[in-house]
Amino acid sequence: MTTTADIAIIGGGIAGFSLASAIGGRARTVLLEAEPELFHHTSSRSAEQMQPTYGPAPVRRLTSASIPRVQAIAEGLGRPIFTPRPLLWVGTTPDRHHLDELLATVLGLEEIEPREAVALLPALRPDAVHAAGIDRSAVEVDVPALLEAYRAAAVAGGVEVLPSSRVERAERIGDAWRLTAGTAVVEAPVVVNAAGAWVERIAALFGARSRGLQPLRRTVAVAVPTGRPVDPAWPMASDVLDTFYFRPRGRAVLASALEDEPSEPEDAQPRAEVVATVLDRVNAATDLALRETETTWTGLRTLAPDSLPVVGRDADVPGFYWLAGQGGYGIQTSAALGAAVADDLLGTASTIPGLEGVLADLSPARDALPA
Ligand SMILES: Cc1cc2nc3c(=O)[nH]c(=O)nc-3n(C[C@H](O)[C@H](O)[C@H](O)COP(=O)(O)OP(=O)(O)OC[C@H]3O[C@@H](n4cnc5c(N)ncnc54)[C@H](O)[C@@H]3O)c2cc1C
Repeated sequence: MTTTADIAIIGGGIAGFSLASAIGGRARTVLLEAEPELFHHTSSRSAEQMQPTYGPAPVRRLTSASIPRVQAIAEGLGRPIFTPRPLLWVGTTPDRHHLDELLATVLGLEEIEPREAVALLPALRPDAVHAAGIDRSAVEVDVPALLEAYRAAAVAGGVEVLPSSRVERAERIGDAWRLTAGTAVVEAPVVVNAAGAWVERIAALFGARSRGLQPLRRTVAVAVPTGRPVDPAWPMASDVLDTFYFRPRGRAVLASALEDEPSEPEDAQPRAEVVATVLDRVNAATDLALRETETTWTGLRTLAPDSLPVVGRDADVPGFYWLAGQGGYGIQTSAALGAAVADDLLGTASTIPGLEGVLADLSPARDALPA
């Protein structure tokens, strides 16, 4: 049976569902997800942070605009969705270059004395902290609750969700696209490519040229310290050289060594040597003495060559819209980006304060992307 719609969204992660919830009842929308389970890939494998001072400028604007929208979702749910989790940038070498660059370019980031950083997070070894900066506006977000809220809002708005529907074929029929996904056939004039690590494969199905989007592995290890108990009020610590981050997670800490290894789109799994590096690096800067992991996971962050998301109509392929390349920012930007893209697709004036012109910076036609 063929389902017809105004908009078909390919990808049932946070990108696809934040958009679907923002479209709501304003257009007939179908969302196709390859896996039987929603949110199986990167969206359920994050560090769950929303950090307004983290990322390139358009990402920071989207994050700042997303926080009040997620707060409104929490009010609708009737329970909190945020935990305050300031982001503590730590200079672990005498070279101040990276911290100075951050302080000079990122509004809202405040320099603090190394001894204040250690007072906020006593697990840090004093000799490992040469300089520090803090973003007190950063928060941790309950990602499963946020994902479920987007899903529920999409369904309440009439969006048809088709799990176990891997799009394998796209044909142009008149002014519409016909998508074949197993036994499902969907026809829609507009198709949104929100397929996470698979976005380049989806683009190829439509004959769209590559935008150089590359999935990169990133592994997280969760371990209970043997050196000292965890205080849930600790900030998240992130080395300015991007060699490690960690933050409390119950009685454990969640940590990463921020590896960026290119990968095929796949169900990525952790590797023992990367997990060992995570523990070694956190142990070198702290007295946490992490030994055994409770759990580990690996997700794929998909980035364009200039590390900005790729969002907008493809000028060469009618009805094909990119919502891709959210990299390490797909959770924190989702609420504002989903709403901005819904307005763009529906041709309605954007009502989101602070986002004027942001989609132009993310255009799939920008010079930084492969021609
Ligand atoms: C370790 C780690 C930590 C992170 N921490 C943070 C953080 O703290 N804050 C933050 O903002 N971001 C963070 N991120 C990034 C964030 O998780 C991603 O940017 C975001 O989840 C990407 O969402 P997505 O919907 O684009 O991709 P996905 O969640 O991967 O969804 C894409 C979906 O498309 C589906 N799909 C693929 N091909 C097809 C097809 N042919 N047909 C139908 N469906 C298809 C897939 O099955 C998948 O479900 C982190 C990422 C990692 C790996």
